[in-house]
Order: sequence, then C-alpha cells, then structure tokens
Amino acid sequence: MTARAVLRRVVVGVLGTNCWILHAHGDRRALIVDPGDEPGSVLDAVAGLDVVAVLLTHAHFDHVLAVPEVVEELGVPVLAHPADQPVWPHEIATARRAGHWDAGTATADLLARDPARLAFSADVRLWDGVSVPILDGQILHVGPLAVRALHTPGHTPGGLTVAVDGHLLTGDTLFPGGPGLTGPPLSDFPVIIRSVRRLLAYPGATGIHPGHGRSTTVAAELPHLDEWIARGW
Ligand SMILES: [Zn+2]
Ligand SMILES: [Zn+2]
Repeated sequence: MTARAVLRRVVVGVLGTNCWILHAHGDRRALIVDPGDEPGSVLDAVAGLDVVAVLLTHAHFDHVLAVPEVVEELGVPVLAHPADQPVWPHEIATARRAGHWDAGTATADLLARDPARLAFSADVRLWDGVSVPILDGQILHVGPLAVRALHTPGHTPGGLTVAVDGHLLTGDTLFPGGPGLTGPPLSDFPVIIRSVRRLLAYPGATGIHPGHGRSTTVAAELPHLDEWIARGW
C-alpha cells in the first residue's frame, strides 16, 4: 500500500493548461507535472515543498513554457519520455515560421480574439529540450509515494501518463469525452486509442485528470470508447 497522494492543480497559460503538484499526504517532497506557463504561479504553488523533479506528459508548448524558470529556481531535473524528443524542436520550428504557437484546433479562434497571447517571441527564454529519460513502467519515488510512468503515445510519440494512488494524470491523451487531438503532426489516432484502452482498463473509480479542463473517472468514460473509435477522433 502506497502513501495517500495529494494532487493540486494550477491552471496556467493561454490554453488553460493543468499543471499538477503531486506529493504524499504529510510529506513535503513533491513532483511538478507540466509547468506549462506562468512560472510565478507554479513556484508559488510549491512554496514550502521540496520539489524533486519536473515531469512532462509531453512537449507541446502549452505544457513546457515555464520549464526554464522553474528548473533554474528549483535546481531539479526534467523527466520526459525519449520518444517525445522531436516534438519540442518541431513546436519551435513551427512557431518561428508562423510567428505564433500552434494551438491545434483552437489556433484560429485565439488569434482572432487575442493574437498577442499566442505570439512567438525570439526574446523569451525557451526550454533547451534537455531531459532525463523516463520509460514505461518506471517507478518514481516522491517521498513515500510510488509514482508510475505509463508510456501513452498517440497525441505525441512520447506521451506519458502518471499513475499514482488511484489517479491518472493523462496529459492530452484522455479527456472527459474522448482522446486528445490526433490531427497535429507527430500524432496518430489508432495509437492513441491503444493508449486510451490501456488507461480505461484501470478500476472504474480511478480518477482521470487531463492536461486541460475538468477531471473524470474511468467508469464515466469507458462506456463511450466504441463511439470514439467509430467517429475517428
Ligand atoms: Zn498537447
Ligand atoms: Zn495541451
């Protein structure tokens, strides 16, 4: 029996990314998942905790923009799946070319409403892309908490889900109402469906906490898997 997990959510950035702070009840050692923007808010949320690492569910811009400030301030490593290595260079190349970050299906709307928020600037500090590899099934010890990394590709090739104490932090792999986007480059629908099947094999009460928006459970989502496969997104 592992320790009880405390999960805290900090919503950051133009796409309302869920940055998760994870630690064992009664213990200060903590993991930051997806510091996607607003480093000040992320650092405020871990005041009084001893952060051991930053873990990335994947390397899209909205999950990594605060990495440089956060790792410099805390002096901790960045953990990511090695198959995601092409993703961040691709994000930067696309943004340089277009002059703004690619926010998938939300891009046109965001550019119309508030172009400055998506704008790519060569002056901002960007993550150097350096990470410590974390592989499928690997257990990370965050104090007394056993945190398991699951390789759940499809939205990106190196997508990770964090499994801890009856909770899954699914990044952009699984949301209430279906899998994450597989339209963007480097993503794949049949692959994400395999990942989603694996996540929905967890017990019904397991919490699903995605990279954006509200949480759900395995029991609430599992009945809809066949619909998602039939519609193809
Ligand atoms: Zn994403
Ligand atoms: Zn995202």
